[in-house]
Amino acid sequence: MLEESEARQRILDTVEAGAVTWVPLELALDQVLAQDMTGAIDSPPFDNSSMDGYAVRAEEAQAGSALRVRDEEQPAGLDLSLACESGEAIRIFTGAPIPRGADAVIMQEDVIREGNQVTISEGVQVGENIRRRGGDVCAGQTLLKRGDLVTPARIGLLASQGVPEIPVHARPLIQIITTGDELVDPGAPLIPGEIYNSNSPMLQALVSRSGGIAATSHALDDPTHLRETMERAFAASDLVVIAGGVSVGDRDYVKEVLGELGVELNFWRVKLKPGKPFLFGRHPEGTHVFGLPGNPVSAFVTFSLFVRPVIRRLLGIPAVELVEGLEKAVAAEDLSNRGNRPHYLRGIWEGGRVRLSGTQQSHAIFGLSKANCLIRLEPEERVSAGETVLVRKDEVGGRR
Ligand code: AMP
Ligand code: MG
Repeated sequence: MLEESEARQRILDTVEAGAVTWVPLELALDQVLAQDMTGAIDSPPFDNSSMDGYAVRAEEAQAGSALRVRDEEQPAGLDLSLACESGEAIRIFTGAPIPRGADAVIMQEDVIREGNQVTISEGVQVGENIRRRGGDVCAGQTLLKRGDLVTPARIGLLASQGVPEIPVHARPLIQIITTGDELVDPGAPLIPGEIYNSNSPMLQALVSRSGGIAATSHALDDPTHLRETMERAFAASDLVVIAGGVSVGDRDYVKEVLGELGVELNFWRVKLKPGKPFLFGRHPEGTHVFGLPGNPVSAFVTFSLFVRPVIRRLLGIPAVELVEGLEKAVAAEDLSNRGNRPHYLRGIWEGGRVRLSGTQQSHAIFGLSKANCLIRLEPEERVSAGETVLVRKDEVGGRR
C-alpha cells in the first residue's frame, strides 16, 4: 500500500497545467495567469488633479495673494488644453488634466472665492495635489508573473491598463459519478433503507472551491448502468471522480467496470484512514480517474488530499503551492491512533490549539462540518493534552 505522499506524487507526476485560454477579465477570478503581464500604458496616463480646486503656479499661490479665475474650467474628461497664465487660477476637478503652465492644485477649501477672484488662505508647493503620469505604473513594467493568482485587486489593475481579456489555464471539467442503490437526491422522500446522496453536492462544491467545473451523474450498483454512466463521463471531461463502489464488497463494481473500459490502474489503496480504498487510473484516451470511498468523510478527505492538488496543477498553480504543508498545533485533549495507518481526525483549530470536532467515524458528516482542520496522527501515535500534534489547516476549510 502506498503512503499518502507517494500516492500524491504519482498522481501529480501525470498531470501538467491545462491549455491556455483567453477569458474576459471579470470572469478570471481565482484563475492563474498563464503569461507575465506588463504595463501597456503609463498610469495615470497624464498628470491630473487629485482634488477639486484651482490649478495655479505654486510660486504665485501663497497665503494672502489673490489670483484671477479663468472663465473656462477644466473638468475630468476631455483635455481642453488650457494654459495657466501668470496671475491666473483655473477651476479644476478631481481627475482632470493639469493645464499647461500650472504646477500645483490648490484645494477649494484653501481659497476664498469672490466673483472671478480667489484669495489664497493656505499656500501650495510645486507638485501639490498633482498625480503624475506614470506615478503608479510605467508602460513596459512587469506587473504580474505567470503563475500569479487573479485576485479582485489584480483584476482592477489590469482593467486600469485597458486589458479586456487575459490568458489563463482553462478550468478543468470534472465529471463526478456517485454510486449506490441506496442513494436518493435531496428533495425526494426517503423510503426505509435509503439515505440521501450527500457526496454529489459536496464533491461538486469541492470541485468549484478548487477551481474546477463540476458535472454530476449517479450510477446504480449495476455493472451495465455503471459502465454506461462512466462511458458518458469519460467522453466529456478532463477528470472523472467516482465516489463509492471502490471497496471489496460484492456490489463494488467500479474496479471491474474500469477494467472493462481499458482503464489502467496506477494504484489502488493508500495507507490512510479514512480513505484506504482510494484508486487512481488512466483511461486509454488519457482522462485520469479517481475512485473515492463512498463514506462522505472518506470522500472528502481523499478529495482534499489527492484530487484538489490535481485541479490546482491543471489551473497552473506553482508546484510549491499545490499542497498545504503540515503545521504544528497544541493538542487540547488526549489523542490516539491505535491503527496501523496514518489517521486524519477532523479537528477544530483555534489560536494554535486543536481539539476533535465530533464523532470520528467516516460516515459522520456533522463532525466534518464543524471541522476547520485535519489532525494527522501516525500509526500507534499517542498525544497527551498539551503536546504537539501536526495539522493540515487549509484542507477542511477548503480554502484555496
Ligand atoms: P461504498 O464505498 O459504496 O461501499 O459506500 C460506503 C458507505 O458510504 C455506505 O454506507 C454508503 O451508503 C455510503 N455512501 C456511498 N455513497 C454515498 C453518497 N453519495 N452519499 C452518502 N453516502 C454515501
Ligand atoms: Mg456503495
